[in-house]
Amino acid sequence: MDSVSITLSNAQIRLFPCLRDNYGVLVHDPASGATAAIDAPEAAAVEAALTASGWKLSDILVTHHHGDHTGGIAELKRRHRARVVAPREEAAKIPDVDEKVAEGGTVTLGTLSAQVIATPGHTLGQINYYFPAAKLLFAGDTLFSIGCGRVIEGTPEMMWQSLLKLRALPDDTAMFCGHEYTEANIRFAMTIEPDNPALAARAAEVKRQVAARKPTIPALMGEEKRANVFLRADDPAVAAAVGLAGQPAAQVFAEVRARKNRF
Ligand code: FE
Ligand code: ZN
Repeated sequence: MDSVSITLSNAQIRLFPCLRDNYGVLVHDPASGATAAIDAPEAAAVEAALTASGWKLSDILVTHHHGDHTGGIAELKRRHRARVVAPREEAAKIPDVDEKVAEGGTVTLGTLSAQVIATPGHTLGQINYYFPAAKLLFAGDTLFSIGCGRVIEGTPEMMWQSLLKLRALPDDTAMFCGHEYTEANIRFAMTIEPDNPALAARAAEVKRQVAARKPTIPALMGEEKRANVFLRADDPAVAAAVGLAGQPAAQVFAEVRARKNRF
């Protein structure tokens, strides 16, 4: 895919591919000039995006400790003296942290403001950044479009509770995630919900986006709620589709996630 610029009411976004399948994102506040990188997969790609946009890096907002989200921090910090904001629970595993944040905390970026949402599961200390006024969510490796992160450090129950927190956000929230996995996620989701019309619509949209070399994100939360099987584990039809009719949603989620791991 190509890099794209997105202008919202009170923020500007630069979205670019990096590493193998990671997304890099810059969030810019035109009112103050502040610019944050959401995670820092690799310094060179972030630098290229800064050059293309003409913005100056002021902050790095880290979602979790994995190397494909933190590998560029040290070099970017050295060059730009950016403030590094990171999850408190994982700060020891992340380089050059200036500010540790946790559930319920607030991060300011110029005149913009983000709420910190703890979403343990993929990693135990993972956090997501939600900008309510700009209607933006940076979901890291918790939620992907039509998918979710692998449950590596936490439990399926924990991940399901984290996804429920994201599902509670408004439908018009634009969701950015850490990886471009959307096509593969759709292929899998179709095996569980072949007759979900919202999923079919999303599949058609993604086909067009990929053909045009466009990113498949941001995704609107309203559409994810209808089309993403990992947000629908409490739907009786999903439970029935995996042979767990009447079972608790967390158990249904665990089964869907296990099937995806084997897919
Ligand atoms: Fe990760
Ligand atoms: Zn990742």
